[in-house]
Amino acid sequence: MNKILLRKGRERSVLKGHPWVFSGAIASGVEVCDSKGEKIALGWYSPASQIRVRIVPDAPIADLIAEAVGRRAAFYADDAVTAIRLVNAENDLIPGLIADCYAGHVVCQFTSAGADARKEEIADALMKFAPFCQSVSERCDVDSRAKEGLATEPAFRVLRGAEPPELVEIAENGVKFLVDVRRGHKTGFYLDQRDARAAVGRLANGADVLNCFCYSGGFGLFARACGAESVTQVDISGDALALAKKNEALQHYCGTKMEYVEADVFQFLRKCRDAGRKFDFIVLDPPKFAATKGQLMKAARGYKDINLLAMKLLKPYGTLASFSCSGAMDAAFFDTVLAEAAEDAHRKFQVVARTRAGADHPVLLSFPEGAYLKGVVLRSIS
Ligand code: SAH
Repeated sequence: MNKILLRKGRERSVLKGHPWVFSGAIASGVEVCDSKGEKIALGWYSPASQIRVRIVPDAPIADLIAEAVGRRAAFYADDAVTAIRLVNAENDLIPGLIADCYAGHVVCQFTSAGADARKEEIADALMKFAPFCQSVSERCDVDSRAKEGLATEPAFRVLRGAEPPELVEIAENGVKFLVDVRRGHKTGFYLDQRDARAAVGRLANGADVLNCFCYSGGFGLFARACGAESVTQVDISGDALALAKKNEALQHYCGTKMEYVEADVFQFLRKCRDAGRKFDFIVLDPPKFAATKGQLMKAARGYKDINLLAMKLLKPYGTLASFSCSGAMDAAFFDTVLAEAAEDAHRKFQVVARTRAGADHPVLLSFPEGAYLKGVVLRSIS
């Protein structure tokens, strides 16, 4: 037997004998029971989603948020980093809640019906517990909300505190970035690549760097800060490149030659091949090619294509930093794709580093799906 839990105060109409219960009267909390009817867990119910129930702890949401924020204390002690993820959804035991903080401006995505139904409580708790919090906003323009049957408009709105500035300035390990919290990708910035950007930058000294899928300049600006000879930043989005240029202007002067190219990477790599253009260091950080397991093989062909092309554009002893943020593709399969590309490119590579999302994007040990991002740094030895 299913139990339907009504929201506080919404019992009256049933008690008075009305025969209907509307969706708005139903609280999204449910008990998850074993086959004998014994309760084994609590969950949030998502009527429209394939993931019908998401397991949650039996604790007030404000406590869960206070704990998630508390686990980030080390980041708050580090002045070099002013933008961090405060809540990483399931991995912080709050299913469907992403909360990213940009220099005191917190931007949330509520991607489960349960989190969406609790957004007021969540916003209050973030204002209260996130250190130096000036505002809490919400981004609705995310595909996963549509899958949950949740509205995808308005794209952005402030829930608590002051309107954030048009562009919020953040610092990441010595490099400054402007973040467009209203229109930028995700909540405005790819915070999950922080450690990878730092690692890649350190390897790019003196190199001619090609940064593919550059968004607001990330990897390229780290390479510049670490003394790259030249950096070519490529993205298909003119808006992203405009922001990347603004970000370059925020940094200290340095002699690195910067070039910005608005192009489809698949085509740009072929153009470089045809022109015989070569690079010492190439970064490939594409968007998610596989959203589901069903798209995996098509995605694998896409990853192989760009990696094969990039490998061929590397000068001898060059370095390729290659990433995949497709959760459906695990790290072992990504390695296989890279190995096949290397074979076809007739090049030999060493793995010199592996990267993943930083400590503010923890992954629950019992939830391997949480580990969507992987990076491999390959050095050509032939
Ligand atoms: N490396 C970036 C994040 C990359 S996100 C960082 O550190 O911040 C992926 C980027 O790929 C987006 O900016 C998107 O505009 C761009 N993109 C998507 N498809 C593309 C294509 N076919 N060619 C070039 N850029 C593309």
